[in-house]
Amino acid sequence: MNKSMRTIGLLGGMSWQSTLSYYRFLNEAVAVRLSGLHSASIAMVSVDFAGIEACQRRDDWVGAGEILAGAARQVEAAGADFLLIGTNTMHCVAGQIEAAISIPLLHIADATGETLVSRGHKRVGLLGTAFTMQQPFYRERLSERFGLDVMVPDEPTRREVHRIIYEELCQGHFLTESRQRYAEIIETLRSEGAEAVILGCTEIGLLVRPEDAGIPLIDTALVHAEKAVDMALEGL
Ligand code: GLU
Repeated sequence: MNKSMRTIGLLGGMSWQSTLSYYRFLNEAVAVRLSGLHSASIAMVSVDFAGIEACQRRDDWVGAGEILAGAARQVEAAGADFLLIGTNTMHCVAGQIEAAISIPLLHIADATGETLVSRGHKRVGLLGTAFTMQQPFYRERLSERFGLDVMVPDEPTRREVHRIIYEELCQGHFLTESRQRYAEIIETLRSEGAEAVILGCTEIGLLVRPEDAGIPLIDTALVHAEKAVDMALEGL
């Protein structure tokens, strides 16, 4: 069985807190589907997030893309059959990364969009970094490819959501007051018409659980990992 399972390439470290989730989700999904001692075949390179975050802060997306393109080449050289980038935000340079490799990229917004459509959702809230909530690369992909109507919180709330990601979640701090605040923000999006909320930052699912919200939550790390396992096991 193992001989034909595809090797999942994982570009991690953004942050390593969520890379842990990916590693767990990938292995758990393979174990459930193949049973016994099966686990995922994974080739991973995990970058130093401080360097990526410094590029983000000075708006050097090309520089961040170069670091990630180099790491993606290493993942490919390690034997990956396709690539996951374990963050929503850095999909803003997905084109630059894709151009550096010859294996396919499984885009996190596509995994998210397919999941939302299959569950019958149309109008959805999006929580993530300020880059993901504000820049077009993520929202436009969801609306253009999947026909989704994507709502984001107002500007002061976006700043709060962003701050909690970088100052707390990416550093492994999961505070009750931040969980409550995210729950309130989700409730506001629900009251404004959202049918579901995308946890569009791969660390948010470590803080907010389905039971914290009155509407479905889409954990992008989880759905990305599930689609990757579908791809790795396809045809087996
Ligand atoms: N992991 C986060 C995301 O999914 C934020 C960290 C980053 O900037 O990559 O967007």
